[in-house]
Amino acid sequence: MSFGVLGSIPTCRIYEEMPLTNLCSRVSRYYRRNAASFVFRRPFSISQQQALISFTFDDFPRSALLTGGAILSRCGVAGTYYVSFGLLGKETLTGQQFVAEDLVTLFEQGHELGCHTSLNFDSWETPTNIYENSIVQNRTALTRLFPDAEFRTFSYPINPPRPLTKARIANRFLCCRGGGQNFNVGRVDLSQLSAYFLEKTRDDFRPVADIIDRNRQASGWLIFATHDISENHSQFGCTPEFFEQVVQYAISSGARILPVVKALEALGAPGCRQHFLPPG
Ligand SMILES: [Zn+2]
Repeated sequence: MSFGVLGSIPTCRIYEEMPLTNLCSRVSRYYRRNAASFVFRRPFSISQQQALISFTFDDFPRSALLTGGAILSRCGVAGTYYVSFGLLGKETLTGQQFVAEDLVTLFEQGHELGCHTSLNFDSWETPTNIYENSIVQNRTALTRLFPDAEFRTFSYPINPPRPLTKARIANRFLCCRGGGQNFNVGRVDLSQLSAYFLEKTRDDFRPVADIIDRNRQASGWLIFATHDISENHSQFGCTPEFFEQVVQYAISSGARILPVVKALEALGAPGCRQHFLPPG
């Protein structure tokens, strides 16, 4: 027996195992992306005359408010900021995160605050009980600053949720937002609404214009999401020029531009009439 024959065994094994490994990781990615979307649904029908568009920011970096929020305000509209209080004042991949005074500005400008766990916890990797605790901690941090405020909407950080996580947090919020690069129309799931992340287009405006057009034709609800708005934005954000172009095109499409909870109210979603005192 030559070394050549012996030597071919591991090579052959690697050759055979590679596609299997690829297949396994593709199956596992597919499972992670879709596991929760078919279960523990909170169905709600979107049928309306006029399309809706919401602008949302995750984490959230200061530039999302000071630059992105200023663009929204100039255009006479408002957005939703999904906040992780554990990031307050920190420097992260998306730049400097919000500081306490920013929240006053946020409410003054008519924006909404949503929950994003206390520390941007990965919605798939984090055990459900730790994840749920982080939501409680985030709420505690909010009420320490604004005793009358409450979170009514949530966005899943980093990944789609584990099915059990999705089930456990459902009754804490009127709606929860994921990703999926799509708009919401017809029978939707209030526990996992779709959103379109602007950064995924890499500053290419055409797919954004296309989804705004399709949302208008379908009279759907398109929820945009992103992070930092800056000339030197991270891979998770976009430039002020690009963001403004999106806002202008969204307005010119004839859609109503509303923060997430206001959009839910306009759609007549259950639970929206509950008493709520905005801070300040
Ligand atoms: Zn996040």
